[in-house]
Amino acid sequence: MNTLFQREYFEHRHNGPDHSEINNMLETVRCASLDELIEQTVPENIRLKTGLNLPEPLSEHHFIKEFRKIASKNRLFQNYIGMGYYDSITPAVIQRNILENPGWYTAYTPYQAEISQGRLEALVNYQTMVMDLTGMEIANASLLDEATAAAEAMTLLRDTRKGIRKKGTRFFVSELCFPQTIDVLRTRAEYMGIELLIDHPDNLDVTDEKLFGVLLQHPDSNGAINDIRPVIESANEYQVGVAVAADLLSLALITPPGEMGADVVIGNTQRFGVPLGYGGPHAAYFATKDVFKRQVPGRIIGVSRDKEGNPAYRMALQTREQHIRREKATSNICTSQVLLAVMAGAYGVYHGPSGLRRVAKRIRALARLTELGLEKAGFAQVNEFYFDTLKIDVGSNDRKNQIREEAQRRKINLRYFEDAFVGVSFDQAKEPEDAAEIISLFSKIAGVSEPDTQQLMDMVDVDYPAAMARQSDFLTHEVFNSYHSEHEMLRYLKRLENRDISLTHSMISLGSCTMKLNATTEMLPVSWPELADIHPFAPDDQAEGYHQIIRELSDWLCEITGYDSMSMQPNSGAQGEYAGLLTIRSYLEAKGEQHRNVTIIPSSAHGTNPASAVMAGMKVVITKCDDQGNIDLEDLREKVAQYRENLAALMVTYPSTHGVFEEDIREVCDLIHENGGQVYMDGANMNAQVGVTSPAIVGADVCHLNLHKTFCIPHGGGGPGVGPIGAAAHLTPHLPGHFRLPGDNRAVAAAPYGSPGILGISYAYIRMMGARGLTNATKIAILNANYIKDRLKDHYKPLYVGKNGRVGHEMIIELRTFRQTTGIDAIDVAKRLMDYGYHAPTVSFPVPGTMMIEPTESENKAELDRFCDAMISIRSEIAQIEQGHWDKENNPLKNAPHTSRMVTDDDWKLPYSRKKAAFPLDWLRHNKFWPSVSRIDDVYGDRNLMCSCPSPEEYADEEAGV
Ligand SMILES: *Cc1c(COP(=O)(O)O)cnc(C)c1O
Repeated sequence: MNTLFQREYFEHRHNGPDHSEINNMLETVRCASLDELIEQTVPENIRLKTGLNLPEPLSEHHFIKEFRKIASKNRLFQNYIGMGYYDSITPAVIQRNILENPGWYTAYTPYQAEISQGRLEALVNYQTMVMDLTGMEIANASLLDEATAAAEAMTLLRDTRKGIRKKGTRFFVSELCFPQTIDVLRTRAEYMGIELLIDHPDNLDVTDEKLFGVLLQHPDSNGAINDIRPVIESANEYQVGVAVAADLLSLALITPPGEMGADVVIGNTQRFGVPLGYGGPHAAYFATKDVFKRQVPGRIIGVSRDKEGNPAYRMALQTREQHIRREKATSNICTSQVLLAVMAGAYGVYHGPSGLRRVAKRIRALARLTELGLEKAGFAQVNEFYFDTLKIDVGSNDRKNQIREEAQRRKINLRYFEDAFVGVSFDQAKEPEDAAEIISLFSKIAGVSEPDTQQLMDMVDVDYPAAMARQSDFLTHEVFNSYHSEHEMLRYLKRLENRDISLTHSMISLGSCTMKLNATTEMLPVSWPELADIHPFAPDDQAEGYHQIIRELSDWLCEITGYDSMSMQPNSGAQGEYAGLLTIRSYLEAKGEQHRNVTIIPSSAHGTNPASAVMAGMKVVITKCDDQGNIDLEDLREKVAQYRENLAALMVTYPSTHGVFEEDIREVCDLIHENGGQVYMDGANMNAQVGVTSPAIVGADVCHLNLHKTFCIPHGGGGPGVGPIGAAAHLTPHLPGHFRLPGDNRAVAAAPYGSPGILGISYAYIRMMGARGLTNATKIAILNANYIKDRLKDHYKPLYVGKNGRVGHEMIIELRTFRQTTGIDAIDVAKRLMDYGYHAPTVSFPVPGTMMIEPTESENKAELDRFCDAMISIRSEIAQIEQGHWDKENNPLKNAPHTSRMVTDDDWKLPYSRKKAAFPLDWLRHNKFWPSVSRIDDVYGDRNLMCSCPSPEEYADEEAGV
């Protein structure tokens, strides 16, 4: 073809270095070609011999046109299904400035608090909102979904059993909980040795000595608000823990469970301005009492102070969370739903207490209006008290089917119960005209004339009886009462955004986390209504676009991994691990080998691996690594021999968490198979494999992929994630199921396909890269890492290299040697990098006291060089301490990061210049990021745990200087 007609390849936008940069870098790493580098890095026996079979790549422009066609196969109906998912209105200022803004969505999990103050404040707003609305003392910064949150509540109540309940093994679940919640609880309970009692709350026997906890739903699945106070009180009396799943918005109007004595309150914040997305992602909330703070799953953001004494936010009790307590863990939550929590919190800030009350009352008024109209049409509504949901007795199943047909004609989705009842749930996006339409529909079926809704509207009153109505104030804090005009909100959001380093500033070289480009074209469709506004329980024929996306993406991921099938359900990597291990268990059970329950995990594994294994009821056995960072084959053989009778699985990360392609990996997998076990691969390092090797070739049976790492879903500041699992054919029948899907396999998440709302991102990436682009991405990721290694090698020692002296797509550098002579730790280097405008690489994982650098393919040579220059400059600063130039405690590293307040203060007493502090390299003059706080005191914050906004009284104290 005439090259004039060649299309623009997205590959050249996604992969950072151009031809001349690649050649230049190859020279530095002393390699003739990319292929030679791969030959020296990836063991011969696991290399793919043929290219990937994927569709020809589309240009960005072309992709959007094609994807619109697919999205338009989804059909938009008016949703009244409810069941925990509601249409909501995302305020445009939040949509554009958070959801669609790379300043927010490309940020990393806020481990480096000094350059994350914006999202940390946003999360404290979220936690405060949850605490206030639920009436609880402490809340975390989000969980994966409501059903998972319910399972975590069950675990917390079990782990905090007390008194006569110390040996309790039974957990009572109200049958009035959402079916998806009950399903996930069933899954979780099975291997935790918990017996579930699923029944009507009237049948709860609190005197049962085996009982340790109860889960209620409020309002319940039918929409009814029951008097749950007596149940809670009698449970409290008998030391039985109580968790309540509550609709957060309803708590603006009704008494919150916290005021009735609940121990844990959980639920969803989707209706706080987050789109449906066919099931997710949305942020689930988890609130509890202060005494349980050390058992709270996920992350809690707390308030501490910085070196200058200013208040500063950071993740509380962080070391605990970072290691996820490994095999002692009770929860494996790592990635959660930060971006969605930020949105929900911002929704609370924008509406404030009076706005939330107004929204809630309007929803209730629409439901009440509809109820009045249906009464006129002769239908009985069975919920005596309700918030947004009517349950209508339609008399017979025939009648129900007539209603269904008429509703379909009118493009309306209702909830159809198994018996002759129909549910109608209202939400913020509905109008009185919509209520009139529902009334008209039912009137038509009843054969009566439509009542005058205008007249009915005048009769609507939304007050609850005093005992049920919320009496307490909420969200009285300044932040919830200051930003109700769009201009103020816009500026507040921008102010927060400006405090954070994200990929919009510089490379974030987080080893194991693969912070690559999140291309704008990949992100655009996320807010298209055809994708955003589909209810997860809508009939299949309304979601054909989604089904095509899920099917094709699954096929491509199967091609990439070499597997037979994929499950999209797990909504994080760790959830994928858990789902994968359940798949293995189910397979072994089907073979009659249910006694196999030992999982071997290398000592270098990510903390979620042992945590997930424990949750799947496995006995965890740790195997050692040798001094090259590889699995110690000798030790592994011993462990396998010792546990061979009960061996269920090996969990292995490849390339290893040390960034090396282990030569023996095939042998390792064979050894496990020969002894009756299955191999689970942690696919977090897939970025080093795509197109070059695959989990199937390596010999693993099942593997999760972190679509939010290798496949371009942005990190969102700590979520959302998607952790699909791929499985070999023999495991396919054992993948997760859902009550909405055929078969009776267990569910691990609330929605059948997890978080489909963001699958289009990975779909776009693969569709636009094609086989060649993806394979080049892997090669360049490996080149970039080796380039950094070679540029830094005279300054920092690489900890592990492969047989030919190469590293994979990431590398660990040694920093522990500085401690003795200079007192400098990895954390000081991390903080000093902030002065150079960089987010630190991964600190102290997988090896304490070191850093793991992963540049990804998306960074070009110029950016790699700036980063290396910064690292080399920091090394020369360390040298100055070595030479006694600076004191061990008073030097640019220990004092880092330097804020603009520090360097512009009239008083400057540090033993180096202000320029050295803030502009240590020349290019910083053109591009300077100012950390908004100085070094944060973690210990102070953990000792004085505070995880909400200051109350108005505390504010007044502070102003007065108390
Ligand atoms: C990120 C990561 C995980 C956990 O994935 P999440 O999506 O955060 O739950 C597990 N293992 C490794 C090696 C990882 O890097």
